[in-house]
Amino acid sequence: MRLEFKNIEEIKEFIKGNKIFVFSCDECGFKKVEEKNKKILDHIKDYELIGIYTLYKEECNVGNFVKILKNLEEVNKAETILTFTCGGLPQIIPNYIKKFVIPATNTLKIEAGRELGSFARLCSACGECWIHYTGNLCMEKLCPKKMRNGPCGGSEKGMCEVYKRLCPWVILFRNKRISEEEFLKIVPPKDFSKILLQE
Ligand code: SF4
Ligand code: SF4
Repeated sequence: MRLEFKNIEEIKEFIKGNKIFVFSCDECGFKKVEEKNKKILDHIKDYELIGIYTLYKEECNVGNFVKILKNLEEVNKAETILTFTCGGLPQIIPNYIKKFVIPATNTLKIEAGRELGSFARLCSACGECWIHYTGNLCMEKLCPKKMRNGPCGGSEKGMCEVYKRLCPWVILFRNKRISEEEFLKIVPPKDFSKILLQE
């Protein structure tokens, strides 16, 4: 797995308040966590760190994660949760805790054929994580056209015109996952060189 930290300026407008809880991980066994976590602390030094939890590959599934959350009382004191993981975890957390969850990393690569944590399946390593614009739903994964700024307009009664399932943009609005104001934020164009030019 290959991740890069986002420039904090890029996500600043999405971070609510000053109290931050961090989820880090061992990048499915690819990373030395002590070194990574030191870099994280430096990266967010302008914020008040409420706590940090490092998720290891073996714990990376819903059953374990729910147990972990039950014992992490300090998460409740945070105003925003930042994830330094692949894009899977920030999609999962809002199902269990009502906090702003922002991906602080871009997932550049997830190696095929290796044993991975189960949340990695939710992320297709698009190179620039943008789920904080879409209520933590990953349109790269859920929308066959990977629409960035609203639905394509082809859905019928809420069903996607490509696959026989609900359009994720409809889910976004039905479940009120973002406000109108948040929806109107323009998702910037993607820098494809990050994934196309890597070794
Ligand atoms: S937008 Fe989706 S595919 Fe891209 S890094 Fe985030 S979770 Fe992964
Ligand atoms: S109907 Fe929705 S999910 Fe299907 S391609 Fe259009 S925007 Fe994407």
